Amino acid sequence: MALNARLDHRNPLVFDTHELGRRPGALQRLTRAVDAPKDLGIQGVIGVPEGAPVELELRLESVMEGVLVTGTARAVAEGECVRCLEPLQLELEADFQEMFSYPDADDRGRPKAEPADDAEEDEDRLFIEDGLFDLEPVLRDAVVLALPMQPVCQDDCEGLCSECGVRLSDEPGHHHDAVDIRWAALQGLAGSLEDGEKDEISGAESGVDEKQEK
Ligand SMILES: [Zn+2]
Ligand SMILES: [Zn+2]
Repeated sequence: MALNARLDHRNPLVFDTHELGRRPGALQRLTRAVDAPKDLGIQGVIGVPEGAPVELELRLESVMEGVLVTGTARAVAEGECVRCLEPLQLELEADFQEMFSYPDADDRGRPKAEPADDAEEDEDRLFIEDGLFDLEPVLRDAVVLALPMQPVCQDDCEGLCSECGVRLSDEPGHHHDAVDIRWAALQGLAGSLEDGEKDEISGAESGVDEKQEK
């Protein structure tokens, strides 16, 4: 059986579709506040702390092959700025839409599957089990997609001074004169090296070509 382990209706991320019935076109809207499960977010970067409140707004729509679930999750994610390493919080709003199929609709439903839902491999399909479905994998994917891979404390965060580590946004105009001078010297050096290398390379290449052609 390709079904998940038996679902527990007491799990706050498991939802019941019995009320909806199997009448295509039937609609149900609901909201639920749940505690964030473990590791909700991008590990080591930013995420919703375990147990933090997550507000869920769902719209369940009964269709031929299953239940189409559309919704939004709202929570506060915590992480640190990739530039200055300050802790940061981010109000997160993650939208999702997912089809949960009836297991017995597998063969019948396949040709009818909408192209957008069919892009994934078959094994990624989600199923309704005993009238229940588990939102957790959908929530996880949606949260990861909604989070920035490189969170910053503010859009124009200038990060830390590479010389002394001070947070540059705290000290506008911060700079070290010594660094500027050395940098200028390095740039001059790099320029003269480039000129020299070009000559050497073109000379070496013509030598190699002659040998290889014979
Ligand atoms: Zn920052
Ligand atoms: Zn500095």
